[in-house]
Amino acid sequence: MPELLDIVGQDAALVQLQRASAGERRPHAYIFAGAEGTGRRTTAVELAKLLLCEKPSERPNNGRFAAMDDDFPLRQACRRCDSCRTVEAGTNGDFQLVYKELARYHDEQKVRERVMQNLSIDVVRKFLIDPAWRASVGGRGKVFVVRQTETMSAPAQNALLKTLEEPPTGVTIILLCTSPAELLPTTRSRCQLVRFGPLPMDFVADVLMKDGISPTEANFWAAMTGGSIGLAGRRAGEKLYEFKKSLVGQLADADSPGKLAEMLVKATEKLARKFRTRDKDLATSLSNRQAGQVFLGLISSLYHDSLVSASGAAGPLVHADQPDAVERIAERFGPTELAEILAQLARCEQLLWRNVNAKLLWDNVAVTCTSAAALEL
Ligand SMILES: [Zn+2]
Repeated sequence: MPELLDIVGQDAALVQLQRASAGERRPHAYIFAGAEGTGRRTTAVELAKLLLCEKPSERPNNGRFAAMDDDFPLRQACRRCDSCRTVEAGTNGDFQLVYKELARYHDEQKVRERVMQNLSIDVVRKFLIDPAWRASVGGRGKVFVVRQTETMSAPAQNALLKTLEEPPTGVTIILLCTSPAELLPTTRSRCQLVRFGPLPMDFVADVLMKDGISPTEANFWAAMTGGSIGLAGRRAGEKLYEFKKSLVGQLADADSPGKLAEMLVKATEKLARKFRTRDKDLATSLSNRQAGQVFLGLISSLYHDSLVSASGAAGPLVHADQPDAVERIAERFGPTELAEILAQLARCEQLLWRNVNAKLLWDNVAVTCTSAAALEL
């Protein structure tokens, strides 16, 4: 993990945090909002280390942040003390990551066995609210980092309000979410909002290339994920690039919707299995939906590229590695039909989250994509 001041591409967020932690009234609750894989969690953990560190290091800004004076004292964790090392190892009694799967470790059997669709009030009470009111082990406070706060149920958010409003001395709560609009207004109003923008594409592609990914593939995933280093790395690691190339080729050929649907059914099952290997707690139905979403995302981005091209608009293409395919689809349909296909694909994404049969869904996707026909779902 990079040190706090070495996190790249998020200078605005880092400046805000440095100013906040130097101020007299340090915020005790933050919302870190941004797309997956933009560094929210890394920053939250490094901030936690800093807050709990026995001997934080301090150095003058000296041009690190253009928005700050050169003599502004920048602070980060020492990374050597007991506290820093135990946060890193996940064994620090004053640091807690809170996420919905913690339900597995709850004392009560009924909580352990419940399907984990959201971050429940039971988990929030046991792993955040109750421990927040207990004494700090190291005497420097406590830090709680909540992942996927948008999945926190309304009762859980309401239960947390009092702790967010007036937390015990030294307690800092960091809520990670993709969009603050998905949180209750009462939760939002009690936290300082820190936004994490998309990372520069070149930077994301460079990181992938350092991991041995070819420049063409690295640039593709950087664009496809909108500059999310976490997601781009994951997609590249799933070895989906060859499949994506043949999928785009099939869509451009548009000669066999049946074959295309079959290809998508198989690929979805395979990717869902990979997801379950990576996350043992993941339910089969959820893994299938997440995998389906990856492929719908790939397909939508292709038709979006073709729409950009058909409209004569200039803009960087996601599928810049297969410009001929983008062009052929643009010529076949034209802007109106392409916009219609994109609307149908968006509807498919909604259907994915209901109990629609996978084969039926992909059959419809294939027909819509190759002929612009309406869905029969
Ligand atoms: Zn330290």
